[in-house]
Amino acid sequence: MPKCKKCDNAVSKVYDCEHTEFEEYCEGCYTELHYYLTEPESN
Ligand SMILES: [Zn+2]
Ligand SMILES: [Zn+2]
Repeated sequence: MPKCKKCDNAVSKVYDCEHTEFEEYCEGCYTELHYYLTEPESN
């Protein structure tokens, strides 16, 4: 099973993109990363 680069958990499915520097992240870490990336500025 692939391992998440960030949390080191072995998971059945991993995700990567330019934001993870094309390292494999689990769904949780991947979602969390994009949550912060896409969070709109508060006013
Ligand atoms: Zn992870
Ligand atoms: Zn991305």
